[in-house]
Amino acid sequence: MQLTNLTRANEIGANSYLIEWDGINFVLDAGLHPRLDGPEALPDASLLPPGGVDAFLISHAHLDHIGSLPVLMRGQPDAHVLMTEPTGLLADPLLHNAATVMHRRAEEGKDARVRLFGHGEVSQSVKRWRSCPLERERPLGDLRFQFFASGHILGGAGVLIEGGGSSLFYTGDVNFRDQTLSRKAAFPRDRVDALIVETTRGATPATPGFSRKAELARLAERIRAVFARKGAVLMPAFALGKTQEAISSIHAMIRRGEIPECPIYIGGLSWRLTALHDGLADEYPRDLPKLRMIEHIGPRLLTGREFGAHRPQPGAIYLLSSGMMIDRTLSNLLAQRLLAEERHAIFFIGYCDPSSPAGRLRVAHAEGARVELDARLGPQPIRCEIDHFDLTAHAFREDILEYILSVDPRHAVLVHGDPPALEWFRATLAERRPGMRITIPEPGVRVEL
Ligand SMILES: [Zn+2]
Repeated sequence: MQLTNLTRANEIGANSYLIEWDGINFVLDAGLHPRLDGPEALPDASLLPPGGVDAFLISHAHLDHIGSLPVLMRGQPDAHVLMTEPTGLLADPLLHNAATVMHRRAEEGKDARVRLFGHGEVSQSVKRWRSCPLERERPLGDLRFQFFASGHILGGAGVLIEGGGSSLFYTGDVNFRDQTLSRKAAFPRDRVDALIVETTRGATPATPGFSRKAELARLAERIRAVFARKGAVLMPAFALGKTQEAISSIHAMIRRGEIPECPIYIGGLSWRLTALHDGLADEYPRDLPKLRMIEHIGPRLLTGREFGAHRPQPGAIYLLSSGMMIDRTLSNLLAQRLLAEERHAIFFIGYCDPSSPAGRLRVAHAEGARVELDARLGPQPIRCEIDHFDLTAHAFREDILEYILSVDPRHAVLVHGDPPALEWFRATLAERRPGMRITIPEPGVRVEL
């Protein structure tokens, strides 16, 4: 059994891993780098055996796990694509949206290379997707596989592959604690020989005494203060997962009387994905199963077309993507307007790559510097309130460490983390389990599992 890391660097980028196992070749995830454009954003497809991939197994619908699937499927006519039903339903509009965004960028920038795939190729890809229920064993050639809920977002799942007396488990992105909607992971803890595990938060120790409940109470208190001074709140949020968790959390704050009734603005893609969450509420285990977000909370739609004439409303919450405030997205454009006024606030509620505009804003704010959100505007002073609330959908490093130790695999393969995060896990595991083989797979290098 061999693994080749197709990601171009050891970082949270275009996650994708080729496994070669007794003549069966399958690919775990097919991600697209969230910050890069063009071919550099893709995994290295030249490492795939031409026409020789039997299956793509997809952990969840975030684009850094599925965004290059239409490209990687080129020249792989026999490959099945296997994922949970919600992952397929959510990934379809996300990939079409990605095609639209790339098309627009190619037209604006006159660089055709940023257009990696079009709508036709997405539709062709979707026809070859197969839904797999959770915790049900299915064949994969002579091997067997099954998905286990990962607690990260709706449909998110780790995958166990077994055969010939050995087993491999790939976590994808995981959360071992309940969120407002998503319930914590239900992962297997025995019979795992090789464990491929995400390490996103490896460089961040959990704050002593931290609780998600207390963090939400702090957020409610800050929102109340912004509303009292007639400001607007921007929460940059990924359209999938973070937006639905935030809508339902804000709804709970309103019901508890912690903040007043207020308009919540979301973008078109977030709207579609929220409606899909509502439609699947009866079928997939989650908290607040009776809540229908569109009907019961009534978010307001703010499209890119309306945005130009829209003035930030006092006492409103803007849950806009992208979560990292990538250039020209609504969250980036609104932040440019809010920065100049003290009454407004920008509250981060998830992971930001330090080199993304959101990451740069947080750093500049901490240093008392100006920030450049858009090269056309140049650096701007930061006058509005900036804060960060830890409502992450990723597991704390302590929870992942506890999981690895309880599984006690023969071989732990560390992925999906920046170098300091990977290194913390490597060093800590080496100390706690001297006999465990630990690998940080170098891009493009085949590793025996
Ligand atoms: Zn994810």
